[in-house]
Amino acid sequence: MVIICIVLKRRRQTPNGASRFPRTEDDDCELGKLIENPEYVRNGIHQLKSRNILYVIGQLGNSVSTSGKKITEEYAKNHIMSYEYHNYLDISRRFSNLCSEKVFKLNCVNFIDGWGGLWNENPCERHDTLNTIKKVVEQSQTIENKKFVIGIRTEIKDNLNCKLKALVIHMKENESLLLDSISTYKRQTLMEEIKLLQNSCSERDCGCKSLNLEQVSGIHQEPIGTYLVVKLMGLDHTMIPEFLLREVGPLKAMSNHFERLMERENIWSWLPYFVCLGYYDEEEFRPEIADGFYISNAMLSSYESIEKYVKRIQIQNLVPMWSTTFCCDPDVENKEKNEREVCVFRHNFLYICAFHACFKKYPKQILLFCNLDAILQLVRPKGYLDQLTIEADDIEVNFFCEERLKNLAKDNVLLEHPLIKDWKIGKKKKIKALGQYSKMVR
Ligand SMILES: [Zn+2]
Repeated sequence: MVIICIVLKRRRQTPNGASRFPRTEDDDCELGKLIENPEYVRNGIHQLKSRNILYVIGQLGNSVSTSGKKITEEYAKNHIMSYEYHNYLDISRRFSNLCSEKVFKLNCVNFIDGWGGLWNENPCERHDTLNTIKKVVEQSQTIENKKFVIGIRTEIKDNLNCKLKALVIHMKENESLLLDSISTYKRQTLMEEIKLLQNSCSERDCGCKSLNLEQVSGIHQEPIGTYLVVKLMGLDHTMIPEFLLREVGPLKAMSNHFERLMERENIWSWLPYFVCLGYYDEEEFRPEIADGFYISNAMLSSYESIEKYVKRIQIQNLVPMWSTTFCCDPDVENKEKNEREVCVFRHNFLYICAFHACFKKYPKQILLFCNLDAILQLVRPKGYLDQLTIEADDIEVNFFCEERLKNLAKDNVLLEHPLIKDWKIGKKKKIKALGQYSKMVR
């Protein structure tokens, strides 16, 4: 899942003229330059000729979004069709509001990603995800001149697999493009990326100088793809030795890096503010969140050291990807009509790592102030860990359910989440135990 890439033609400025986050030359969807992958694209276009649906499957950072969009665009151009990019939430809402035939345009190639959640799978969205895939598959089977490219993360596809089979949806081999395997082309591109990283460095004794493809391919990379590993190493070469340690892995190495930055540099003390909102809007300061971390607006005045980690997008393109927009944060809902640009992390994986770093330092504040999408996607109670989540202890789970969710309707989909489910079970057990105790006392 990668945030929709928008080619931005103009630069928004603060009232005093200078944007805190000026455009960088390599502003792009997937950390730096797009990974051109003509081999995959050609295969995908070829596969799409004889069928109406194509699944592009790969780990986070293995070019799912980039390849899917490229296939969509190239196929449309070659066959005189229009093309559109969607987040699945947007499609899910359209299916609820329109009759199925009107959800997609005729003679159009549609790329859909974001399945399961913006950063990681949200268990509350599973039903919606399955239901939407089912309806898209039905469209692909009944309407001739509509084509669909479905970009989906390997882990999310694996989690959904049994349920999809129950719905008689099979992602067949001839309908799937798998991006996780190492091809000759991919090896070559990775070697070029490593060379670029080394050439950009003037430190003679830097760890990057001895970096090679075998090292990068040999490290414990999960849950992200090799391209992204190399791009992340390029953000700060001092991280390279930690990335190469088998027992650490990219998620821990990157979140450790954010932790160190928060300790070391004042500018990074605003990181939890960014994490809570999920974006940074320089035209709107939110004191109710900043106060929770003792952050002032003045602390956001310098950007040089964080510039390489962020990019700008139009907020109206971010909002449709937030599943809880309409039930939890009316302030975000208002932004849907807004055209101004905001900053987000350059890659969703960077947000995940920043979330982990901030949760470790400020667990209660994050549970209280952070956008609910991130909490539901990235926090689990004990025993539910997956590759991208962080564990909350019983006290934190209790705090979240008692303090954060107290004003939300109790009959909504939130009850599907293990954080809330376990808390409810624990509460029932406690009441039962208390009942038995009071009987004994009597
Ligand atoms: Zn270096």
